[in-house]
Amino acid sequence: MWNKQGTNHPTRVQSALGGKGSKVQTVSSRGRLLIISGPSGSGKTSICGELEKDPGVRKSISVTTRPPRPQEQEGRDYYFVSEEEFKKRIERGEFVEYASYSGHLYGTLLEPLEKAIKEGIIYLLEIDVQGAQQVLKKFPEAISIFILPPHEEELAMRIKGRNLQPDLQGRLAIAKEEIKFANKYRYQVVNDTLEKAVEEIRQILGLASSEG
Ligand code: ADP
Ligand code: 5GP
Repeated sequence: MWNKQGTNHPTRVQSALGGKGSKVQTVSSRGRLLIISGPSGSGKTSICGELEKDPGVRKSISVTTRPPRPQEQEGRDYYFVSEEEFKKRIERGEFVEYASYSGHLYGTLLEPLEKAIKEGIIYLLEIDVQGAQQVLKKFPEAISIFILPPHEEELAMRIKGRNLQPDLQGRLAIAKEEIKFANKYRYQVVNDTLEKAVEEIRQILGLASSEG
């Protein structure tokens, strides 16, 4: 068990990564960066899928050397590349950040991020804790949210239930390490029910309620 607290409100914490500001950023003509992290199986992808339905929100598509899962599509879920190709892209300076996770490389492309910010879009980065630290150094005004599962047993069930994850034990071990970083994020949201978690994040962003 890592969270015995209620799930009604996201906890506001002064971000050690995100510099001084702990207030929600005001909506401006320039877009905003939203970082979402959390352990594997906490529900990041499901939450981002819901947030993306808002026309003012766009999700960054990462580049990875991990092989695609059965339902995943090139260019929608990730850009799947070889390690050689990934390293070439690092040298060309294409990434805002990149990190190694569970034996594979993952990176965020700079160009689409800059474009979205110019367009006034909320640009959503679903990245790990290492990547979040790198982005917050470059963009300290970014809003950072850590997604927590209600409890450890539920996390294991969600990882298993997803696609018979072969590296379940590995991912659970990483999860326990990642959760130690939760209070470095400006907000923590417990994904008990998906609807509630999404609504909390929409409130943080100042987006209209998705209901009605
Ligand atoms: P992550 O992207 O953090 O690895 P996913 O969004 O892929 O997590 O969710 C992992 C699994 O848990 C999926 O099968 C998803 O449908 C399920 N899931 C996500 N949120 C919830 C929730 N609130 N309650 C129950 N199951 C959930
Ligand atoms: P998965 O293999 O489950 O899709 O993702 C594994 C981890 O990598 C998750 O924590 C996910 O948020 C993270 N991740 C996905 N894309 C990126 C990225 O571009 N950069 C970083 N640093 N992490 C990423």
